Amino acid sequence: MSGSASPDRPLPLSDVPCWDHETDVIVVGFGAAGACAAIEAAEGGADVTLFEVASGSGGTSAMAGGDIYLGGNGGTPVQRKNGFVDETDDFFRYMMMAGGPDADEERVRLYAEGALEHFEWLKSQGVPYRDTWLPGKPVMPGTGDCLILSGNEYAWPFKEKAKPCPRGHLPEATGETGGFVLLEALARRVRARGVDCRFDTRVVALIADENRGVHGVVWIEGGHTRFARARRSVILCTGGFVLNEEMLRRHVPLRSRLGDEGLSGGHDDGSGIRMGMSVGGEAIHMDELFLTLPFYPPESHVKGILVDEEGRRFVNEDAYAGRVAHFIAERGGNRFHLLVDDALFERPTEYSRIEIAAVGETWNEIERELDLPPDRLAATVDRYNRHARRGEDPDFHKDPAWLAPLETPPFAALACHLDQAYYPFFTLGGLRVRPTGEVLTAGGEIVQGLRAAGRAACGLPRWGKGYSSGMSLGDCTFFGRLAGRSAAAAPAR
Ligand SMILES: Cc1cc2nc3c(=O)[nH]c(=O)nc-3n(C[C@H](O)[C@H](O)[C@H](O)COP(=O)(O)OP(=O)(O)OC[C@H]3O[C@@H](n4cnc5c(N)ncnc54)[C@H](O)[C@@H]3O)c2cc1C
Repeated sequence: MSGSASPDRPLPLSDVPCWDHETDVIVVGFGAAGACAAIEAAEGGADVTLFEVASGSGGTSAMAGGDIYLGGNGGTPVQRKNGFVDETDDFFRYMMMAGGPDADEERVRLYAEGALEHFEWLKSQGVPYRDTWLPGKPVMPGTGDCLILSGNEYAWPFKEKAKPCPRGHLPEATGETGGFVLLEALARRVRARGVDCRFDTRVVALIADENRGVHGVVWIEGGHTRFARARRSVILCTGGFVLNEEMLRRHVPLRSRLGDEGLSGGHDDGSGIRMGMSVGGEAIHMDELFLTLPFYPPESHVKGILVDEEGRRFVNEDAYAGRVAHFIAERGGNRFHLLVDDALFERPTEYSRIEIAAVGETWNEIERELDLPPDRLAATVDRYNRHARRGEDPDFHKDPAWLAPLETPPFAALACHLDQAYYPFFTLGGLRVRPTGEVLTAGGEIVQGLRAAGRAACGLPRWGKGYSSGMSLGDCTFFGRLAGRSAAAAPAR
């Protein structure tokens, strides 16, 4: 490291001894966001250099299911082929709800209007898609089918504000390799566009002038410190901060409720977010997580009911598992149970670590076995059953499609305890950016020469309770492209 420069402290421009490398655009990180930024910057006529700390491309993106959340303009060809009409306004309204109290309207509008074109662009980059639809509530199905339901579209309250439609688009891939297939195609395109890719290089600091305008990066290669100049822009695409325990503890109150199930390809240490902050960039929604509990599959368990340690329901169980997990984590206590009857029971997946906590012929028996307050559980189930028989859920508005009275013994309680079941998570907070990726200060000023995309930025997904699978990669790829285009068009300094 040169002098005291670090991710938290830029190297003053005047301290650069000499430029080891000069280019128009520097992209840091070769995941989905970095790949898309590099492709578009190169297509925009810029010389592009990509620094990647790992020995190859992919990042967390290559580990993903590859699901991308798309729709609008009447529907993608896959949606239309399978009989779904997806108007832009419905897509927009859903995305605004999914973005939560601080949804970014400008960003959502651009995405809702541009997602159809983006799908065509992904295909033109060589990402393979079938035109098939897989019904139900699949999670990383690995069948190679394209269209899946991946969010809260058909669940209350979302279904009341926007006409529901499935929007998860998976690449054609065997097993759970969708993200790998996506990144393979994008990486091929990056190479074909002549981007100078430098692996095993860690960017450790930005280089900034006295006005905090960014001119380049300090990088480490083979133990040597080097200095690279970006004539137009640096684009930080370094991923989130799920591996940075100190940042998690500082920013994410839910952290203390969760285990060590942070989802990452290995380098989500928040370095890009810290570098952006070191030149005045603001980080926003740093407390928000994607968090889930795979209580389905089996799909029949969506018809079960979830109760807390007082034996009370607290959520419509047909919501996306990510939303349900947030309701669990925000509630007091550690012990949560999914109640099912014999008609619904199937063994939970091994990876969910959901175990059978109690089995009984009556709900009172289960209640005693779980050491819950007397009659509470039996009363909860009784009330649920009474309404479910009429196809109603006045308390939590579960859709009639998922309502079934729990009345076929034996009954079971499945343990979804926070300290035992599998609750994986990744971070949604990051640098505050314009849709062009330009990093903003707390006062709303643009940090000159700096852009960010993907989970280093706070983009479309910014509210854990609204997250739908496919929103992160949708955001990374769509706004990664915009950042690349905008960087290539920026004036050279
Ligand atoms: C198992 C799993 C399944 C998922 N499934 C989906 C899904 O189906 N759909 C969806 O939308 N999301 C999914 N996600 C989330 C999604 O994969 C990530 O949010 C997304 O890939 C982040 O992309 P990114 O480009 O911002 O970061 P990454 O893909 O992580 O890329 C960042 C790159 O930057 C590099 N880097 C970091 N710091 C430095 C540095 N200082 N110098 C140089 N290089 C650096 C890293 O090595 C990495 O290659 C999933 C995640 C996991 C783990």
